Amino acid sequence: MAYTPPRHCSRCGGVLAPVAGKPGQRVCENAPCGEITYLSPIPVVAAIVERRGAIILVRGHGWPESWYGLVTGFLEPEESPEAAARREVGEELGLTVTESRLIGAYPFARMNQVIIAYHMPAEGEIVLDQTELAGFKEVPADKLRPWDFGTGAAVRDFLEQRRRG
Ligand SMILES: [Zn+2]
Repeated sequence: MAYTPPRHCSRCGGVLAPVAGKPGQRVCENAPCGEITYLSPIPVVAAIVERRGAIILVRGHGWPESWYGLVTGFLEPEESPEAAARREVGEELGLTVTESRLIGAYPFARMNQVIIAYHMPAEGEIVLDQTELAGFKEVPADKLRPWDFGTGAAVRDFLEQRRRG
């Protein structure tokens, strides 16, 4: 589901109104409150998980049968993005990350997110978290193709960096 900005002030419940010249802010119309709400994007971590030469893609519940994506997740308080991505790989796939390399950070405007993506070689046997995921598939790294939204930009850069060595 696409992002929609909040309509009500989190402090007093008043209606939020646009702020002239500041598309990233809303102001509470309840004058005594006047709280500013910032529409800052939320960071999301993503991992391109590689094991035995294959990239592991995952499918969320309710996704079309043919859709697979990267392991993704949100940061916990005080957690570094890299630690969050490692944790998500462990929780969602049951794998142990052995190395990690930042691929890049990408805006995902439709979701009001910023995706921070890592290449994470991992080892172990897959134990899928079935409350989070409906399935997974393994794609040989040289058969991986980027998609044109969200985490696809990270896949594109990953493949480009890999080609360059
Ligand atoms: Zn308010």
